[in-house]
Amino acid sequence: MADTASATTPIIIPEVIAVSDFAAALGLPVTKVIGELMRNGVMATINEQIDFDTAAIIGADLGFEIEAEAAPEPEVRAAKVKLAEGEGENRPPIVTVMGHVDHGKTSLLDAIRTTTVAAKESGGITQHIGAYQVKRADRWITFLDTPGHEAFSALRQHGARMTDVAVIVVAADDGVKPQTKEAIRHAQEAGVKLVVAINKVDKEGADPVRVRQELTELGLQPEDWGGSTVTVDVSAKSGEGIEKLLDMVLLVADIEDLRARPDGPSEGVIIESHLDAGRGPVASVLVQNGQLRVGDYLVAGATYAKVRSLGDYRGRRITIANPGMPAVVTGFKAVPAFGDVYRTETGEKVAREASAASARHLQAKSLGVKKIDASQLTAAIHAGNVKELNVVVKADVQGSLESLHEQLAKLRNDEVAVNIVSSAVGDISESDIAFAKTAGAILIGFNVGMSSSLKAIANRDKVAVRLYKVIYELTDDLREGLEGMLAPEIVETVVGELEIMGVFKTTKTAVVCGGKVTKGRIAPKETMRIMRKKELLGTGMLSNLQRDKQDAREVFEGEMCGMSVTTTVAIEIGDTLEFYTTESKARTLDA
Ligand code: GDP
Repeated sequence: MADTASATTPIIIPEVIAVSDFAAALGLPVTKVIGELMRNGVMATINEQIDFDTAAIIGADLGFEIEAEAAPEPEVRAAKVKLAEGEGENRPPIVTVMGHVDHGKTSLLDAIRTTTVAAKESGGITQHIGAYQVKRADRWITFLDTPGHEAFSALRQHGARMTDVAVIVVAADDGVKPQTKEAIRHAQEAGVKLVVAINKVDKEGADPVRVRQELTELGLQPEDWGGSTVTVDVSAKSGEGIEKLLDMVLLVADIEDLRARPDGPSEGVIIESHLDAGRGPVASVLVQNGQLRVGDYLVAGATYAKVRSLGDYRGRRITIANPGMPAVVTGFKAVPAFGDVYRTETGEKVAREASAASARHLQAKSLGVKKIDASQLTAAIHAGNVKELNVVVKADVQGSLESLHEQLAKLRNDEVAVNIVSSAVGDISESDIAFAKTAGAILIGFNVGMSSSLKAIANRDKVAVRLYKVIYELTDDLREGLEGMLAPEIVETVVGELEIMGVFKTTKTAVVCGGKVTKGRIAPKETMRIMRKKELLGTGMLSNLQRDKQDAREVFEGEMCGMSVTTTVAIEIGDTLEFYTTESKARTLDA
């Protein structure tokens, strides 16, 4: 395999390396390395970057031992959520609410908010910062607004966990649904404690006992049935059971003995972010360890901030945010991403350098290394045939944008796909319309506004603009759009068969003949396949049909008939005509 002398000492290379640098490191001509890459299905040119895994395989094929450079740690690491026993101080539990659509997640979050907030404060709680806190029996509980599974998947990428307890909402009148099971699985995989809220118990047809049975079937036996799953009957509408639910959340959290380090550098997670017209980049953070203070320098992903102001979930200014608290932070240089972890640094220089290193690291990770295996190659060749529905997406906050990206990526099959040509946080602007026009794209706004003057411009420029507040309405519409782009399926049905018993006249374009219908029925204008000893000779159309020398509209199995067939095939005695109809059927993305 290798015609190069095997290196005795390993070659050390970084996480990503340009093909030319890699060749230099190996002491080989670049063409040889490119050739070896191609043999392994990697199409990379001299200046392109390859990742370590690729380099290691190619290196080994060429007779070298490749080792990775000791990895620098530019990425801000996830906060250590659990401390050693006795270490740290108690902190509020972080709770997320999950469950099947329409089972009442939003209503429950609202009900918890309103039942625990004094009326005089209610004016301040409407702002959306990604989380809020409630007080029960003198203890704080932090609720995340982010749909639980999105929070889980975004954070898993960073190796972080931010939730302690998942409240699984099941509507008592509807029972456990596939999405309920998925929510339970996500929570279990994330190692999160469960509390099941059996919601809508006020409704007629509510059957909390049946829900408990269904939970038992899933291996979640309710506590009151001798198992260990905490279930609470609630009604987000009447408020019934809400306080008990909070007590249960605290009880379950207590088993976990949740603690945080109260001092030292502050660490946490970005739970919401957007660009504010007046305040610049704004992010909500969930503090996990250490106190975050006004004036601190913090690094989050590829950006950093000198904390200019801190606000609590009610929008009130605070100077310190403690572990377990959500807080709104201003002072960022750029909008950090949802799910990024943050850490405070000792000064601006350190913070700036750490964020720059992180930016480089992210860039290296996103470098398109084109690793193509056989199946992908076929896919790539066919890619020219994939019809794309171009969209320009604007959303209120970074979190929404991320989940839109995730959802829209799923809307595809081999023939059609959604292509996001551009996406950003913020209201729809005139340049978005111009861009959508150039790109031939639909302009989609999620939880964002649009002035009537802009609507007029979009109208004039014939740019389709759709505004949504609910993600599944958006995905449903796009799915419908894609399905409309799918070539319809042609469904063929064989309706009858006839055996030729006589041929009376044959011209270049037609045959006058007679025979017996051996299966089904036949009728004029129907198309047919002409078969001789099971071999297909060609096709034809029945132009004229007679029974007993009379024009017939249909002839059935067992009956004899005479006919004229439009075809170029010279039909002979003994041939079989197979009659069929076709119907075009609209297709769906999944079929
Ligand atoms: P989500 O999709 O899980 O966020 O569900 P929503 O909170 O939007 O609720 C779906 C529907 O159920 C809405 O029409 C709510 O008004 C209704 N709903 C939610 N909770 C209750 C409840 O406890 N009782 C009744 N009767 N209706 C409820």
